[in-house]
Amino acid sequence: MKIVLKKNISALWKKVLKTNFTDLEELSNFLNLSPKKRQFLTQRKDFPLNLPRRLAAKIQKNSLSDPIFKQFVPLDQENEVAEGFVKSPVCDESFQKTPKLLQKYNSRVLFVTTSACAMNCRFCFRQNYPYDTSSNKRFDNELDTIKKDSSIIEVILSGGDPLSLSDENLQYIVQQLEKIPHVKLLRFHTRFPIGIPERICSSFLSMLEKTSLQVVFVTHINHPKEIDEDVSSALKSIQKLGVTMLNHSVLLKGVNDDFDTLHELCKKLIVTGITPYYLNQLDPVSGASHFDVEVKKGIKLVKRLREELPGYAVPTYIQEIPNEKSKTPLHTV
Ligand SMILES: *Cc1c(COP(=O)(O)O)cnc(C)c1O
Ligand code: SF4
Repeated sequence: MKIVLKKNISALWKKVLKTNFTDLEELSNFLNLSPKKRQFLTQRKDFPLNLPRRLAAKIQKNSLSDPIFKQFVPLDQENEVAEGFVKSPVCDESFQKTPKLLQKYNSRVLFVTTSACAMNCRFCFRQNYPYDTSSNKRFDNELDTIKKDSSIIEVILSGGDPLSLSDENLQYIVQQLEKIPHVKLLRFHTRFPIGIPERICSSFLSMLEKTSLQVVFVTHINHPKEIDEDVSSALKSIQKLGVTMLNHSVLLKGVNDDFDTLHELCKKLIVTGITPYYLNQLDPVSGASHFDVEVKKGIKLVKRLREELPGYAVPTYIQEIPNEKSKTPLHTV
């Protein structure tokens, strides 16, 4: 009986995920959007609305300028064609070692574990990625490739969102990686906890606690509104296990491209025990040009942050330039 009960608790996040808003009209009603404002929305069959309820609940009613609204609700601006904005802005495909493994940089590989996410961010650079969606969750090809290359010390679980995988599937990957002597670090790149903090359940925590790998947890938080009591307590329960916790943000026009918002975000992150890692220049994916911020402005913002906050609270402002050997820092430019 007890085992059954535990399983049900662990699966709570799957039930919460199923309550996401996926219907534009339903969301518009929930947000009391006026008929006039509804005209700015668009349906994107290829990359539809997907928004956890708790995030939707934070959106100001009848507003098109709320920072959470802007990040997740498809607007007709996405249909605009802009020069330089392309389907595959960081050329991920040309770095595939296997269908689910990318390597751009020395010593680490990125594991595209799944195409699924807890939410669809309108600026996602991987929204057109040709995901291998075969049901195979054994990842033999990927694990074999990692095993054969002893220069790899870190495996980054990404996607989509790796926390979309069940704990059983994650556990399997972790166990296989633990058997590879040169792999020392296990990194998660995830946005899941800000939408569905229930995901940080006891079985996930127990997996992190037991692994012999050093775990690095990189969250993706762009606006201080994304952090609340439940989110921070979920993230703190991970930190208690000795996990390094970092955050990367994307610089987004109308969302966080002003000093006060970035300042509050960085402050809230360090108070939550999360070190700001990267501030990413937007990857120019088609349909996202309305989010673009000039590099000049980004440099100024980061410079001011450095004047106001502890050094460790200031993220490195970077851009991903295909074929470079690392992300490219922008504040020295
Ligand atoms: C961004 C990225 C990484 C991680 O780079 P770090 O600078 O170590 O954070 C690794 N692999 C790929 C393919 C990436 O795009
Ligand atoms: S959570 Fe990450 S991978 Fe998923 S849609 Fe958002 S940016 Fe893209």
